[in-house]
Amino acid sequence: EQILSNRINSLSESQTLAMARLSRELIAEGKDIISLSIGEPDFDTPTFIKEAAKKAIDENYSHYTPVPGYIELRQAISKKFKRDNNLDYTPEQIVVSTGAKHALTNLALSILNPGDEVLLPSPYWVSYLEMIKIAEATPITITTNIDNDFKVTPEQIEAAITPKTRMIWFSTPCNPSGSVYTKEELKAIADVIVKYPNILIVSDEIYEHINFLSKHESIAQFDFIKDQVITVNGVSKGFAMTGWRIGYIGAPKWIAEGCIKMQGQFTSGTCSIAQKAAQAALEADANVTDEMLKAFKSRRDLVLKEMGEIPGLKLNEPKGAFYVFPDVTNFFGKTDGETMINNSADLSMFILNKGLVALVSGDAFGNPDCIRLSYAASEQTLTEAIRRIKTALATLK
Ligand code: PLP
Repeated sequence: EQILSNRINSLSESQTLAMARLSRELIAEGKDIISLSIGEPDFDTPTFIKEAAKKAIDENYSHYTPVPGYIELRQAISKKFKRDNNLDYTPEQIVVSTGAKHALTNLALSILNPGDEVLLPSPYWVSYLEMIKIAEATPITITTNIDNDFKVTPEQIEAAITPKTRMIWFSTPCNPSGSVYTKEELKAIADVIVKYPNILIVSDEIYEHINFLSKHESIAQFDFIKDQVITVNGVSKGFAMTGWRIGYIGAPKWIAEGCIKMQGQFTSGTCSIAQKAAQAALEADANVTDEMLKAFKSRRDLVLKEMGEIPGLKLNEPKGAFYVFPDVTNFFGKTDGETMINNSADLSMFILNKGLVALVSGDAFGNPDCIRLSYAASEQTLTEAIRRIKTALATLK
């Protein structure tokens, strides 16, 4: 008999990866699909980072590494936290993992007990919910919407707290909404959480470098809350290094130690060569990511302008990351004569089949009113994709 665990049976497939798979299948059938479903920069990793990896191979960085990562890398991360975020984390408070995804899974498994509640402002990043479920904890979503720029308010957080609340997880800049919390907004959230010393904040800052506001703000900058914060970051998005799989946390020492113990039994220290490459990325001048940032900003402006001309779509202005998350409720109840659109999942399938553009339905992120378009693609591709979306949507009456 083919029996898998209850744990795996209760897990959902990542909908962003599922959409990527579906569009690859359609492409294999000969369809001309534009895929704007995946959260990955289309740039290549900068040359100096690749050179550092080649050098690491030649210098035989081929052995097991310390579980939390090479000390040189953790020192580089410690300096980066100070330089970019004005955060003091010693190397002992830093754990390097196989992507931020793994860093987050370590946190869920090291901190949560069955029945603990985790607050998730929605829209949230797809995997948070499933990671929390793997740890047998209970995700409690807090709904935000486009009218408040998809940002959770301190009042909403306070109202959702119960004696079982153990953590709150959020990303800034946010995947999927592109919203970025200001210093004042973060302080107001910290002011609520500090009243509950048992609640920990997971601040996922993986999109730090793709931020169109003047400066990235970390919630751990407020000393009064720092002992309750885990700052999550990595090199995937900012340095176009998704395949290298390096993410990390800065955390109170007891939490770092928990994650090291977990990681020591699960995966050990992550890839030696990727660690040396990440060290080069983080030790480089802070402005090496500026070119990519400029390109993302100009794409965002293009997408906002062209999507703004599609009747029925409601858009906010994303301040970071590389996604737009339009509200599509105006299309619910409409049909092209064949397909009825009842929700955002129907609409994203309709846009895939009729417009040949792959997007991700907002319900994957806990918001069934919206769809997510990733603008990590060339301006030419984006223009063509939006033309197709506009044509397809115009057939809905
Ligand atoms: N956190 C957020 C908000 C993300 O969007 C992603 C990737 O899509 C990750 C974490 C995972 O990043 P990594 O490639 O470092 O595992």
